[in-house]
Amino acid sequence: MIVGTPREIKNHEYRVGLTPESAAELVRHGHRVLIERGAGEGIGAHDAEYEAAGAALVADAAQIFAEADMIVKVKEPQPAERAMLRGGQILFTYLHLAPDADQTRDLVASGAICIAYETVTDRHGGLPLLKPMSQVAGRMSVHAGANALEKAHGGRGVLLGGVPGVMPGKVAIIGGGVVGFNAAQMAAGLGADVTILDRSPEVLERLGIHFENRAKTRFSNAHNLHECVTEADLVIGAVLIPGAAAPKLVTREMLGDMKRGAVLVDVAIDQGGCFETSRPTTHADPTYVIDEVVHYCVANMPGAVARTSTYALNNVTLPHTLRIADDGWKQALSDDPCLAEGLNVWNNQVTCQPVAENLGYRH
Ligand code: NAD
Repeated sequence: MIVGTPREIKNHEYRVGLTPESAAELVRHGHRVLIERGAGEGIGAHDAEYEAAGAALVADAAQIFAEADMIVKVKEPQPAERAMLRGGQILFTYLHLAPDADQTRDLVASGAICIAYETVTDRHGGLPLLKPMSQVAGRMSVHAGANALEKAHGGRGVLLGGVPGVMPGKVAIIGGGVVGFNAAQMAAGLGADVTILDRSPEVLERLGIHFENRAKTRFSNAHNLHECVTEADLVIGAVLIPGAAAPKLVTREMLGDMKRGAVLVDVAIDQGGCFETSRPTTHADPTYVIDEVVHYCVANMPGAVARTSTYALNNVTLPHTLRIADDGWKQALSDDPCLAEGLNVWNNQVTCQPVAENLGYRH
């Protein structure tokens, strides 16, 4: 099979669909790999590395879309890319179609076979191709918070780990799923005083067993939330109610009871945010201050660490990419019902039920 990866063209997207190492694996399996020149520059993967991996460099995306049997990307195809998709071509990437009627219409019209990373499942019903981005965001939330706690960035001037003879900073993490677990690992590793709040007894038990005395766990109710949030130097919002907007767990009123210069990092901002005062920010201008509390609400946190994010993503996508290339998409999907969940558009039809329902397509 010919597998192609164009340079990402979405604004400020530096990740790349295939690393040189992934390209080498595909070549070892007997496939031809086409990479657009400069596609890996954003993560410091130079053209020469792809060449050494056995990939062929091509001048532009048009040639990739014209020749490849399968396109492997990161972000949803932009209008110029959608115009180049061909009937019968496989597209393997993040799509996020449910809120995107224009993209869905173009993909349906293209006749391409569109397999979305975000709807591939695992045997436990998890979303393994989304998980690495939650891991990255969770770990990064502690960096972002530590940075915002510095005086020059509006924070109260607290070093999370403290120093001998000085108390560490207090970190409250709301939501103990993938983001919350990874945030807790980083914060506990720094030596901060960490409390994780969740509503699920199973999650609390798992966290308790894992962290032992390196982090405290508390049931997430209004009383406990208020106490933890108002005592914290850094609060990390990491809740998710699948399919719903994030609940507003920290109200505007509660900001008045928080420490001056405390920091809120709202990782759940991509689901509307779990603090009433959250609004999306960008890496270029990540924070703002309300009632002397610093807010960090970047919706695409993994983009800032594009190299780590690309490798983390490739670790989970490559086995699927190889299977599709080796066996053909029909065989690969029929062998693996979890991968089959990724099929969103095929044969000029929407094949993912939630997307079809949301956008009024017949399923
Ligand atoms: P997850 O499902 O693994 O974990 C969510 C946790 O929230 C669960 O343990 C659940 O029990 C808990 N929860 C639900 N309601 C709660 C409440 N009222 N109080 C306390 N806990 C509650 O989800 P995740 O992968 O950790 O993702 C968390 C959020 O981070 C999602 O909205 C996700 O989209 C977002 N995210 C954002 C970025 C970014 O760049 N900003 C990147 C990755 C993920």
